[in-house]
Amino acid sequence: MRIILIGPPGAGKGTQCQRLVEMLEVPHLSTGEMLRAAIKQGTAEGLEAADYMSHGQLVPDQLILGLVTRRLKSPDCRKGCLLDGFPRTITQAEMLDDLLERQAMSVDGVIELAVPRDELVRRMLARKREDDNPEIFARRIESFERQTAPLLEYYDRQGKLVSIDGLGSADDIFERVRRAIRAFRRARR
Ligand code: AMP
Repeated sequence: MRIILIGPPGAGKGTQCQRLVEMLEVPHLSTGEMLRAAIKQGTAEGLEAADYMSHGQLVPDQLILGLVTRRLKSPDCRKGCLLDGFPRTITQAEMLDDLLERQAMSVDGVIELAVPRDELVRRMLARKREDDNPEIFARRIESFERQTAPLLEYYDRQGKLVSIDGLGSADDIFERVRRAIRAFRRARR
């Protein structure tokens, strides 16, 4: 299965992804993690991305597409993958559709983890990450609302979107995620 998880920063995507990859037995593709690894390794892509990331801005689509294309072509992604943090713009979603289509593949379902803004800020203050200072975090939320939220409509129009409430315990939320996956499986048959 090819599943996309969409949610604002601090929605709990990481926690749910960990559980979901175990359940689906597919690789977890997080563009945020790929970029942080590229920065650590000091690659050209990492160097280019670092400045955008430290300002809470999205990295250019072409750079992301390069990373994702390489990853999606590796053999372990043949049976599926969980996409986390990608696509983040309509352009990226269109590029992903093209990329998959060329390999006779498609996105099976998209899960939105919906969390109100005040709760996101509360969670951010409770954790620690370099791009998590309040000002940068606010910018990341704005970028989500402006650039990524339109994707919800894009996938809804394709009949692929399930929105779930991202409030509650990790167990409760995962139960909602499982229900969404069951619905995607039924739709595939
Ligand atoms: P994340 O770990 O998914 O929250 O990503 C951390 C940061 O990496 C984001 O704030 C962006 O600067 C950058 N980033 C990650 N994924 C993407 C993407 N698909 N498109 C553009 N920028 C991205």
